[in-house]
Amino acid sequence: MPVTATVHRARDFFATGATRPLAFRREQLQKLSTALQQYEPVILAALQADLGKSPYQALATELGLVHAEINHALRHLARWVAPSKRRTPWFVAPACGWVQPEPFGVALIVGTWNYPVQLLLSPLVSAIAAGNTAILKPSELAPRTAEVLTALVTEFFSPEYITAVNGGSEIAEALLQEKFGKIFFTGSARVGRILMAAAARHLTPLTLELGGKCPAIVCADAKVELAARRIVWGKFLNAGQTCVAPDHVRVHRNVREPFLLAMKQALLEFYGPDPRRSSDYGRIVNQKHFNRQLNYLGDGKIFHGGESHAQELYLAPTILTAVPPDAAVMQEEIFGPVLPVLEFDDLTKTIAELQVAPTPLALYLFTENRTLENKIISEVRSGGVCVNDVIAHMIGTGLPFGGLGESGFGSYHGRAGFDAFSHQRAVLRRTTWLDLPFRYPPARLAYTSLKRALKFLLRG
Ligand code: NAD
Repeated sequence: MPVTATVHRARDFFATGATRPLAFRREQLQKLSTALQQYEPVILAALQADLGKSPYQALATELGLVHAEINHALRHLARWVAPSKRRTPWFVAPACGWVQPEPFGVALIVGTWNYPVQLLLSPLVSAIAAGNTAILKPSELAPRTAEVLTALVTEFFSPEYITAVNGGSEIAEALLQEKFGKIFFTGSARVGRILMAAAARHLTPLTLELGGKCPAIVCADAKVELAARRIVWGKFLNAGQTCVAPDHVRVHRNVREPFLLAMKQALLEFYGPDPRRSSDYGRIVNQKHFNRQLNYLGDGKIFHGGESHAQELYLAPTILTAVPPDAAVMQEEIFGPVLPVLEFDDLTKTIAELQVAPTPLALYLFTENRTLENKIISEVRSGGVCVNDVIAHMIGTGLPFGGLGESGFGSYHGRAGFDAFSHQRAVLRRTTWLDLPFRYPPARLAYTSLKRALKFLLRG
């Protein structure tokens, strides 16, 4: 079916009002949960084939997160959809006002390949919860997963309600010619700009979940071994192909040596002497990205790792030192298993460098000192912050997840996701039994009343 017809079909279905009742939304969320449980074995196999993702990682970082979103939405949806009362100004009294969340209509959700299930279906949970219809555009770079998700959606949902449209940039560009109620995009800043231009054409509300170079700062007082374990875990999860993975580390000179040794130790513990044999270690998504990672190896001194196997798209977890600031690995988002470690002794200078860099999706800092923590958080901007850990701030439904500046705008997860797919409609209802005259002409009467009201307001 041509994309225009697909979008029109979804729009017509939305117009029937069928997606709005709370019972319908709950039923669809439960259906999605059932579908995911039924499709779990094929989803795990597809993730293994596309990204070498282990079943544990697939459950922990993909399916588990979507189930958590569904459960959370089912638990809180009645409260989220309920109109919330607001105060109204005295000069329209008697009146009552409220905010009524309303679905936008047809939501276009464009996903990417590194967490191809979670990044497509978590926004879908929010879109359903908010009462929209949805068109999903999975990433073509995780083709087996895209295929499985399309089969799931086709089997469990009516096509006018939720549809998956597959293909590369050409199909995405065709979709973007259409008018949507909401566009939700996860991917690169380059394509984010294309989406934003397309959204501008129809003035469509947009959420951009982009990436960036997430820095980790390890201060002199940090618990070094713990910092090393947590950074190694977050960096080499999914072979570094995680938007919130620490992109590089800035470690205080006094703890550099023990930190590097602790990272080496953690790598050995997690993935053994040959990570290629570890079922917990993933693969690079394709040849292009594999070559890009290999090119980074020359940008510094290999402290650990560096081994690769082209046929398997395998690159060992690699730590680089002595990296000059103008090297490509420090200019581009790495998005792979290469971790530059820079040292610092002047935190003010490090902060100044981060202040002029594009705003990252996440900022990580390791310190036991609250004053230092507050200083770094208040002086370095980022989408989110995690102190003494990495990635943990975006797991779960309690905290909104999103970027700022170059890493995007808008957020989701839990209530924030519901809000991202809802228009906060303001409603005011007045009574008709009283109609105070002061706002009506002649102006003299209105002016006197306004003057009196302002005097009352400004009385100190
Ligand atoms: P990408 O931007 O190339 O592709 C993402 C999606 O956009 C795909 O579905 C693709 O088909 C579509 N697309 C490609 N060209 C298009 C075009 N011209 N018009 C419309 N759509 C188009 O994604 P990528 O670069 O492979 O993904 C990696 C980036 O995504 C990294 O920067 C990473 O940090 C970021 N990311 C962000 C998050 C987040 O939650 N903020 C999560 C994962 C990845």
